[in-house]
Amino acid sequence: MNFSLENSVNEQVVLPKEWGVELFIKREDTIHSFVSGNKYRKLKYNLKKAKSLGFDTLLTFGGAFSNHIAAVASAGKLHGLNTIGVIRGEELKSKLEENETLRFAKSNGMRFEFVSRAIYRQKTEITFLNSLKKFFGEFYLIPEGGTNELAVKGCEEILTEADKDFDVICCAVGTGGTISGLVNCSKPNQKVLGFPALKGDFLKEDISKFVTKTNWDLIEDYSFGGYAKINEELITFINAFKIENNIPLDPIYTGKMMFGVLDLIKKGFFKKGTKILVIHTGGLQGIAGMNSILKKKQLPIII
Ligand SMILES: *Cc1c(COP(=O)(O)O)cnc(C)c1O
Repeated sequence: MNFSLENSVNEQVVLPKEWGVELFIKREDTIHSFVSGNKYRKLKYNLKKAKSLGFDTLLTFGGAFSNHIAAVASAGKLHGLNTIGVIRGEELKSKLEENETLRFAKSNGMRFEFVSRAIYRQKTEITFLNSLKKFFGEFYLIPEGGTNELAVKGCEEILTEADKDFDVICCAVGTGGTISGLVNCSKPNQKVLGFPALKGDFLKEDISKFVTKTNWDLIEDYSFGGYAKINEELITFINAFKIENNIPLDPIYTGKMMFGVLDLIKKGFFKKGTKILVIHTGGLQGIAGMNSILKKKQLPIII
């Protein structure tokens, strides 16, 4: 992983003048070919710490389409670290080759432990982690979704001085690490809006643990029914956005957020003249897996 090329560009998304606001998108999806977007930011200081403590193995948790699993596998390979993914869903064990994300992770050397949903829920419990240590040996633990203090620290590098004139910063939210970093590096007069990709009452509490300011809020109307749930309206939107702006969005996070931001703009949610910056947190590796599901359901696919 190259740590020197870290500033992504802001591209303007041209909107009809009468909408009265300006919209830019920070292309964090372009900072690395495999460890894209916020997962790169979240791993940066964790990898440094794992290495400095002398660990040779990373262990983390994730689901079947997890961008985090793909990123950890890829980053581990680049850094010469072994990787272990504890995957939610025993049934995936026999379907590994059909799942693009897991296949990619495996091709980068990741070893898997497939567990039931009940066992997966113990992912933060000491007894379960100790049993994993007994089985796999010592490892540096990266929590599900990669969120911890070092991940937030990495995400504090997303905004730069050049972004100080934006009034509103928007991002997709999973576990809340990314928005926490954005809040911490935002200016006090900026507002940070998070668009959760899943329903979860715990999110606000989790974010509160990491943030140093209160200039943020969550907009919970655009989760499309929950994590990795999508419908034809969202697919149509993602495809139209790509054709119009030449910017791909992923179906799990950035597609939902951008849908929400544009919907709010059209509804007059933002004051006239507001300068909005949305963060493209990456996640494009998830498109292939989602398309496999869409094909099976005979729904239109993401182009
Ligand atoms: C993981 C992910 C998020 C969510 O990040 P959190 O720090 O968990 O809130 C947002 N967008 C993309 C593309 C992701 O892969």
